[in-house]
Amino acid sequence: MKTFALAGNPNSGKTTLFNALTGATAHVGNWPGVTVDKREGVCKTGAEKVAIVDLPGIYSLSPYTPEEVISRNFILREKPSGIINIVDATNLERNLYLTTQLLECDVPVIVALNMMDEVGKSGDEIDVNALERALGVPVVAISALRKTGLKELMSRAAAMGARRSGTTVLGGELAGGIERARKFFEDAGETSPLFHAVKLLEGDEIELAREGAPELHAQICGGRDTEAAVADARYRYISERLSAVKRGRSRAALTKSDRADRVLTHRIWGLPIFAVILFVVFHLTFAEDLFYINAIHSAATGSPLPTFEDMGYAVSEGSGLYENFGIALAACFYDGAAFSPGVILTNLLNLVLGYISYGIGLGVEAAGAADWAVSLVNDGIVGGITAVLGFLPQILTLFLLFSVLEDTGYMARAAFILDRIFRRFGLSGRAFMPMIMGFGCSLPAMINTRTLADDNERTATIRVIPFFSCGAKLPILTAIAGGMCRLFGLPSVELITYSMYALGIVTAVVCVIVMRATTMRGQVPPFIMELPAYRMPGFKNLMLHLWDKTKHFVKKAFTIIFVSTVLIWFLQSFRWNWTYISDGSVQDSVLASVGQLIQPLFTPLGFGSQLGSYGWVFAVAAITGLIAKENVIATFSVLAAMFAAGFEGTEEGIDEAVVMISSTGMAPAACIAFIMFNMTTIPCFAAVATARAELPAGRFRGTLVFWLVTSYIVGTAVYTVGNWWWTVFVWLVVAAAAAAAIVLHNRGRLKLPALCGKKR
Ligand code: GDP
Ligand code: MG
Repeated sequence: MKTFALAGNPNSGKTTLFNALTGATAHVGNWPGVTVDKREGVCKTGAEKVAIVDLPGIYSLSPYTPEEVISRNFILREKPSGIINIVDATNLERNLYLTTQLLECDVPVIVALNMMDEVGKSGDEIDVNALERALGVPVVAISALRKTGLKELMSRAAAMGARRSGTTVLGGELAGGIERARKFFEDAGETSPLFHAVKLLEGDEIELAREGAPELHAQICGGRDTEAAVADARYRYISERLSAVKRGRSRAALTKSDRADRVLTHRIWGLPIFAVILFVVFHLTFAEDLFYINAIHSAATGSPLPTFEDMGYAVSEGSGLYENFGIALAACFYDGAAFSPGVILTNLLNLVLGYISYGIGLGVEAAGAADWAVSLVNDGIVGGITAVLGFLPQILTLFLLFSVLEDTGYMARAAFILDRIFRRFGLSGRAFMPMIMGFGCSLPAMINTRTLADDNERTATIRVIPFFSCGAKLPILTAIAGGMCRLFGLPSVELITYSMYALGIVTAVVCVIVMRATTMRGQVPPFIMELPAYRMPGFKNLMLHLWDKTKHFVKKAFTIIFVSTVLIWFLQSFRWNWTYISDGSVQDSVLASVGQLIQPLFTPLGFGSQLGSYGWVFAVAAITGLIAKENVIATFSVLAAMFAAGFEGTEEGIDEAVVMISSTGMAPAACIAFIMFNMTTIPCFAAVATARAELPAGRFRGTLVFWLVTSYIVGTAVYTVGNWWWTVFVWLVVAAAAAAAIVLHNRGRLKLPALCGKKR
């Protein structure tokens, strides 16, 4: 089978083309650097099947970034049957710079001129035949998004024969030198000698590492800056050839996006606008008073708007069946205040799940199953899975909104704005995307850090990614926040959730500052990223993302979460001698004795020994979270049944949280500490494995310790300050002392063995 490599600039549409050709559903984002690894698929578009490899986006074949090295090695070493060079036709000059380098390899090249749909719209015209004559390789106009021209592209690609490389920089003074270098590489038995020759003149470090190469470079170049001369020659070639190829008035089309950028990336306004956008995203996901009508009404009249219950309708769901379905349905949308889309979808799903678990409960009882079997099905399996599934709508809403921001091109602007601030903390704007991706799931986020060149910067980023609370941690947040509002009369779930997210971000920032000042020192590389064009997000692309996410989540609920809840149910329902506990004396269970063993560890965080004999449940929940964070709430749901016999939780695990908190007498501050601990401690198994694979060598164990220590400190700080406000001064003094120690140490006046990490 022939293999074709897709090579092109970041954001030129490679992954879109890859998906269109292979039917894959790889992540497409309007963000340079989304694909950081190569990916393979099979294309059946042409007459014969061919393999397609999606390479990471690159601007050149010099070894400046990991992406460039991956792509270069693939092209030179694996010798694909051909390169499909995807070129963004709306940005021809810049994209052809890479083309001129690809042409120097002894590999057949075909140019796929992408985004031709946009070129047409902006009033430009590109003479494809003239471009083909100028480059000397086939050029095919396509639109990866609209799937036009793909057949022609693949059939012409399949027809390509062997190709002798050529170079566009052979003009004038460089010609002799290049020919000499080419001979050198040819004699050394290298394939693509011309490519290596030109790279040597560019002063490429990989070429210079070869035996005899530095001497040859010195002889050819003397004191001349041949690197600049080569780049110059490439651009001259492009601009000379291009004038015949392109006609149009594209300037006019550009200004619209420029004007938008002037506002959105404004030095002063950019940041507040970003904060507002983030707030709107969270508001649409979590708000229980979307338009603030209840808040306004309360402020004006002194009393809140009536809920359906206040109006005398029964919306009771306690028995699992709704007494008045019409009202229950209406209450999904509005109940004393208008809900946000995220909350509405959650309510609707919970309505359905309520019926399903009620039905299953009836079925099990009707079948005359034994006590333990009824409990296993109701409390263990159904309870655990529905408690977790109920969160899917909010996870998807949040995910969808972030995808929209990314696809429109706004996220790239946000990275640009934040780079100015990030820089002071020792990170570049490039670290922003992985962090934002962390709100969805830590796994792809950690993989995305491959775009960070500096090892220390990468390590620091991977470590704080879990603090950007992922979808699986959202249930912990909402359930406990909801429980707190009900128990302690706090006004707004949304406010608590939002502050928790913010606290996670603050923790991340503080940790980065500390790491970059102590063990993870290093230069911040300059942040060069081209701002992608603003685009309407593709509906199909969005739906693909959502569908992937849903599949993943549901699969997890019915595998990992399922097994874990059943396990927890068994451990809490049986004694050490394997007799079933039917009289509610859970304290004798296997789980209780194990839980009580670790319970004291959490005393400084407020959910340890002070909670008394039943307090071990929180310790257990936190531990099950190491398998998957959804487990924390699933465990709650299993354990809540033990506190309240015949307990039926509904409404997103909030009832469970209420039972657990009130039965153990947990303090509000301890609730927050519990959330923060789960947010910052060792993430789930999958994330730990990914971190292990992605971290630079020798950084893994330190990372585990870092997570444990951070979560312990954060949890303790939250609990003590929340419970005894004056301890804030103690913490401030400790923080100030630590900061002073770091500053003095970095100035060399203080020798602190503990802080002597690897210095550069
Ligand atoms: P990559 O970074 O090269 O893999 O680029 P992607 O495939 O992620 O695409 C970058 C952006 O360009 C996405 O927003 C795509 O929807 C968009 N895009 C890709 N191909 C086309 C096209 O043919 N026409 C238009 N209008 N947009 C496209
Ligand atoms: Mg891509």
